[in-house]
Amino acid sequence: MGLAAHSNAELLAEQAAEFGPAHVAMVDEAAGKRLDTMAPEAPILRGQQGIEELAAQKADIVLCAMVGAAGLKPILRAIEAGSRVALANKEPLVMAGPLIVAAARSRGVEILPVDSEHNAIFQCLHGHSRDDVECIHLTASGGPFYGRPRSELARVTPEEAANHPTWDMGRKISVDSATLMNKGLEVVEAMWLFDLPVDKIHVVIHPQSTVHGLVEFTDGSILAHLGLTDMKFPIEFALTWPERAGRPMGRLDLTQMGALTFATPDFSEFPCLSHALEAARRGGTAPAVLNAANETAVAAFCRHRIGFLEIAEVVEHVMQECPTDREVTLESVLRADREARRQAETRIGVLGA
Ligand code: MG
Repeated sequence: MGLAAHSNAELLAEQAAEFGPAHVAMVDEAAGKRLDTMAPEAPILRGQQGIEELAAQKADIVLCAMVGAAGLKPILRAIEAGSRVALANKEPLVMAGPLIVAAARSRGVEILPVDSEHNAIFQCLHGHSRDDVECIHLTASGGPFYGRPRSELARVTPEEAANHPTWDMGRKISVDSATLMNKGLEVVEAMWLFDLPVDKIHVVIHPQSTVHGLVEFTDGSILAHLGLTDMKFPIEFALTWPERAGRPMGRLDLTQMGALTFATPDFSEFPCLSHALEAARRGGTAPAVLNAANETAVAAFCRHRIGFLEIAEVVEHVMQECPTDREVTLESVLRADREARRQAETRIGVLGA
């Protein structure tokens, strides 16, 4: 068993003491040095390289929960090693879906979605023929700013964006939820996980976040997955699959949950969602460009360099300007990623000046 983290040396040391992994890996160099002083028994693998080395060790299951594009190579290493992959990190599938799916197919590796919506849809699809699927519905809470006028959105802060109404998540994904880019990325993620064209993946606003995903079949039947909003459920589902853990961490009380509402998203209010669907339709390395521009813009927003509405503006600009390849290879994806980040930085410099 191995454990990896980006920079939280203290928590990693605590977990290593509890679980006794054969290896630990730490991406951040300074954190790696702090970890040294806590003298964990397991050898420390260092840097991005260290994470890749750890992922390349054969395991029953590798849970990939990194943030952003950084997860791509470790996921590919885990697949090459023939380990089952539980995937919480959506950006690599957005960037390089065809590569990851082809690698998994050729090694006979199962990819289990941990992203809650995809985990829900995975459960609804189980035992059904793909030919019977009319479409899937991805639910979106709408994030903390749903329904606010654009004049107010121009002034929201990263701290407000991180304050998600129904899910407790990291900074990047909280901002993505507020722009609805998260849902756009999830559409691309679903295309690859479930082998569906973009037009068969619908986004529906569901502020209560109780229904996590729905599958509509050709006969008109719809199967839905309901549950508490706690990431422990999809994580546990993936770790114990195909069995179900016997003891729930809580139960949804149907009589207490109140009304469930569903609405069509307002694309003019959430341009990031339109940009993501456009990238999905263009295919090739366009989703990699979208993702890199978004990661760069979100990081700039979190450092107060640009405003909230300018995230979409940066993404749109880079999507228009950045060249894309039809063919998705590791090289073409990484090239698109680099070039889109460079162009996004330039645009941020102009907007933030
Ligand atoms: Mg999700």
